[in-house]
Amino acid sequence: MARFTEEFENPEDARLLLSEIKSLARSSRKKEIRFMEVCGTHTVAIFRYGIRELVPKNIHLLSGPGCPVCVTPNSSIDQFIELSRMPGVIGAVFGDMMRVPGSDSSLEIEKAGGADVRVVYSGLDALKVARDNPDKQVVFFAVGFETTAPTIAATVLIAARDGVENFFVLPANKLIPPAIRAVLDTEDLVLDGLICPGHVSTIIGSRVYEFIPSRYGIGAVVTGFQSTDILFAISLLLRQIVEGKPRVQTQYSRLVSDDGNPAALKIMNRVFEPCDSSWRGLGSIPQSGLNLRPEFVRFDFSNRLDATVLKSKEPEGCLCGEVLRGKKEPVDCPLFGSSCTPEAPVGACMVTTEGTCQAYYRYRGRVR
Ligand code: SF4
Repeated sequence: MARFTEEFENPEDARLLLSEIKSLARSSRKKEIRFMEVCGTHTVAIFRYGIRELVPKNIHLLSGPGCPVCVTPNSSIDQFIELSRMPGVIGAVFGDMMRVPGSDSSLEIEKAGGADVRVVYSGLDALKVARDNPDKQVVFFAVGFETTAPTIAATVLIAARDGVENFFVLPANKLIPPAIRAVLDTEDLVLDGLICPGHVSTIIGSRVYEFIPSRYGIGAVVTGFQSTDILFAISLLLRQIVEGKPRVQTQYSRLVSDDGNPAALKIMNRVFEPCDSSWRGLGSIPQSGLNLRPEFVRFDFSNRLDATVLKSKEPEGCLCGEVLRGKKEPVDCPLFGSSCTPEAPVGACMVTTEGTCQAYYRYRGRVR
């Protein structure tokens, strides 16, 4: 494993790439070059390696809607809180979701008040909880991007095959390409290139990003998570600008192919179908979420909830929505680091290690 990381953290390679970046940034003759990453792991890696400080001052690295916990809207969190209060229901969630503030509560608060909410690491863990508790209804909060959707789909198939009648999901998975399109359609947001996600792209491949150069005239590079991966991606985007040839390139070819993982996509598409979906900060985006197909709809717990009773609201003063669209940086938020910290988060972007606000907070000495 170390071989696959150390090989991409070689200081000499990093120095060469930085010198290439400096020279290309100069050749571009642009006063400001703005690249956005759309992956929480990239956000953290860029801070951890100090890349913002290393690149020339005319390069600005912005964070987009790449953290699955952050983009899950309060309406979904409120729904899950609501179901966790129902008698005979066990809620099963990824650990990061526990502390995300909903409109009036969080799952952590509900658990402290007696709700049976359990942290699981996968849909299969939630299915085991269902098998172990046949007299309860177990609901798994299906959040995440295309990276988690195939394994959740596989869990639904196993539950269907084995006739597990007390297992359900609250579908809230999201799809990255429609969100990128929504960001690029944002008025007043000027970007010069996209650093496309590594994990998601192992599933969906790189070809799906072709709309970025063809429709928006900017480049897109899929990259990995080590220091030289990211520096290489920046140098590729700069070269595209200098050459005037925006295109999709894959720096992360050791794991990402043009067409992704056909087996994972097949299983995902067998169980789920695209639907319009609401994102924190981006609103409703057409065909950007996943609903269970009609033959699996009996697993969908949202049908058992009365959606009309929920009136979701965002925390007062929180700028998560604008942060997720790249329109503001966390340091622009008056609550950043004062009333909003990782220990006492006000908004979702401060909750998880991959949230943009938490990354800015943890590495705040490096923000420029
Ligand atoms: S610092 Fe806190 S309140 Fe401000 S945008 Fe980030 S999460 Fe929201």
